[in-house]
Amino acid sequence: MSISDTGTRPFYRAVGNEERVFRAAFAQQLPVMLKGPTGCGKTRFVEAMAHDLGRPLITVSCHDDLTTADLVGRYLLRGGDTEWVDGPLTRAVREGAICYLDEVVEARQDTTVVLHPLADHRRQLPIEKLGETLTATKGFCLVVSYNPGYQSVLKDLKDSTRQRMVAIEFDYPAEDIEVGIVMAESGSDERRAGDLVRLAQAIRRLDVPGIREVSSTRVLIAAARLAQAGLPLIEAAEAAIVAPLSDDRAVGASLRKLLDVYLPD
Ligand code: ADP
Repeated sequence: MSISDTGTRPFYRAVGNEERVFRAAFAQQLPVMLKGPTGCGKTRFVEAMAHDLGRPLITVSCHDDLTTADLVGRYLLRGGDTEWVDGPLTRAVREGAICYLDEVVEARQDTTVVLHPLADHRRQLPIEKLGETLTATKGFCLVVSYNPGYQSVLKDLKDSTRQRMVAIEFDYPAEDIEVGIVMAESGSDERRAGDLVRLAQAIRRLDVPGIREVSSTRVLIAAARLAQAGLPLIEAAEAAIVAPLSDDRAVGASLRKLLDVYLPD
């Protein structure tokens, strides 16, 4: 769990109408689902929104062992006594924070029991162990992220959960916007950022089995930063973009050919 408070606004460049939709959902106390591939700005977006709306942000990275107790809280033994400790969700409900559940489908199915009454008009969190039901403080907002590309039939978000949320779709930004993001986040000049973005676009157009996910804005920034540290651009792109994408030698070889085409210097 991480908690961030509203200091300076994190750099976020809007890609579409996502800020307007989020503000409207927040004003109406509706939960929000951010849908899209990894590394395309969902986390950065929620950080910027929390800042703009003046709410603390509590982030939980979900994983397949995450239980309802991890979210809600549990009794802990402290010096011979048992003491109740709020989990991140309970804390957000009490404080009126934005609670961001990253990759929510990874969490165990039983967590929906607490998420559903919170995500509809009730805005209530039942805490079975305390025999209490909390009503969310104004300002509380449940935000989940979800990467449709990762999901299998076994691990999908239930329709009953989806239908409680306002969905905002994320995708890789248009070329000029992505070039601006890579420049801002790495300190690269426009030419270098442009070459990397056009390389990523070529990789995104490929339809090759053996590629786990296409190149995200995140890996472009990493490549640009390696190059800023003095690594030749081709080596930087190989390490940050090509190698993480595939374990298949043949796929790696064809991706490397793209480097020669798109990164001439
Ligand atoms: P996700 O949560 O979708 O996996 P992140 O929000 O962590 O992705 O984005 C990865 C990185 O890419 C961020 O740390 C940030 O540097 C950059 N980034 C992506 N999209 C944007 C954007 N629209 N504005 C600013 N930075 C962005």
